[in-house]
Amino acid sequence: MIKPDGLLGNYTDKIKTIILESGFGIIKERMVQLDDEKAALFYAEHSGKSFFQSLVKYMTSGPVYVMVLEKPDAVSRWRALIGPTDARKAKVSHPSSIRAMCGSDLERNCVHGSDSPQSAAREISFFFGDISPAVDRQSICHPSL
Ligand code: ADP
Ligand code: MG
Repeated sequence: MIKPDGLLGNYTDKIKTIILESGFGIIKERMVQLDDEKAALFYAEHSGKSFFQSLVKYMTSGPVYVMVLEKPDAVSRWRALIGPTDARKAKVSHPSSIRAMCGSDLERNCVHGSDSPQSAAREISFFFGDISPAVDRQSICHPSL
């Protein structure tokens, strides 16, 4: 997901180019404006934490761009490509990461990545409905099936 600061900074094309050049397929994509309820639900695992309210405010401050990526080990490979959560630290320790490129700090880190295949499944259905990417891709490639 490209977060509101990524969109606002016009990083969408640059990030999509990195995604494709890194060998990921983009199976689905859409722009979404989250409201408080949806942002809180998306980040439910963090509810009650000190930064939660601020996180919801950040995530609703503008649209986000969500994508389903495909590649062997896509979850861990995408996490490696975006770098550590704290974009300020990423600029030092992982200067070629996406968060180093377009993030600002621990909160405003410009991109999201699912942290496990299970989270990816949950987040894909959160944004695209309960269809597995493989099935959906087949229906795109073979619309008559
Ligand atoms: P990640 O996005 O790397 O999986 P987390 O799941 O821990 O990181 O946190 C979700 C998001 O909440 C982060 O990407 C960041 O935007 C924000 N965040 C995490 N920890 C903090 C914090 N201590 N202070 C402010 N914002 C935070
Ligand atoms: Mg996380």
